[in-house]
Amino acid sequence: MSPVFDPELRQALAERLRYYNELGIYDFYRREVTPRTQASVSNVPGFESEAPPVDLSESMPKRFAAPPSAVALEAIESASSSRPEFKIVDPVKALKIIREDLGDCTRCVLHKQGRKQIVFGVGNPKTELMFIGEAPGADEDTHGEPFVGRAGQLLNNMIKAMGLEREQVYIANIIKCRPPNNRTPERDECEKCSPFLMLQIAAIKPKVIVALGAVAAKTLLAINESMSNLRGRWYDFRPAGVRSNDPNWTGSKLAVTYHPAFLLRDPRQKKEAWKDLQMVMKELGLTVPAKEAQPNS
Ligand code: URA
Repeated sequence: MSPVFDPELRQALAERLRYYNELGIYDFYRREVTPRTQASVSNVPGFESEAPPVDLSESMPKRFAAPPSAVALEAIESASSSRPEFKIVDPVKALKIIREDLGDCTRCVLHKQGRKQIVFGVGNPKTELMFIGEAPGADEDTHGEPFVGRAGQLLNNMIKAMGLEREQVYIANIIKCRPPNNRTPERDECEKCSPFLMLQIAAIKPKVIVALGAVAAKTLLAINESMSNLRGRWYDFRPAGVRSNDPNWTGSKLAVTYHPAFLLRDPRQKKEAWKDLQMVMKELGLTVPAKEAQPNS
């Protein structure tokens, strides 16, 4: 295996591998290199160098040896991994790495079914509170940001009612591309996409996650229950497939509430949703308004 000569590339590789290792990820995938798809920057006039070929293959990633490769290990060891500042990864940096890894994703069929763009997630990477919805709709697909349409307006009001601003929390969806006609995400789409959400959660390490609606709740909790059974209690949540090495974060508490789009269709349920949000506020130490806390007084 050829060593990595470029110091910048080597440093970037080391940082990325260290980040994944800190999240507990030691398995890596690699695209197969075929002569047909090999390209080299050394072919480009002005870029003649001994740089290794760049793989442009679009084939599915292929699993190889579970531990990092010799190149990866060499890169990690050479990047002073014992330095304390490398122990806990900055969530801003971590999210950037996850977004880069996601790339112009073609892992499921949604990339060829009319999506305009990937809707990654938005908000404060250092927040204690994360909201997770189902999938981007038309407005989100246009703007590249979750919950910006009518349901988003209601979510903003829900956040405000909790005494917070939208910018203080982090908002994401189970899947990052709009399904055609806003249909419910397919299982395969959730399975391909949710690992990136799991990494986002592990990077942000929120104290509380609120699952908005049945799709988010059932996907995150991997249980098939009705909303009435899912709401009104806490769940211990750890992002699937990710083991955080941060001793200060053992997982999030997860609560389920109604999806804002459902509340727009059935506003009578807002009272119930508000009960869920009050439960969340108590957990976060936010002041619950006295009037709502004692509705009959
Ligand atoms: N509904 C969702 O579940 N997510 C969005 O981003 C918008 C609407």
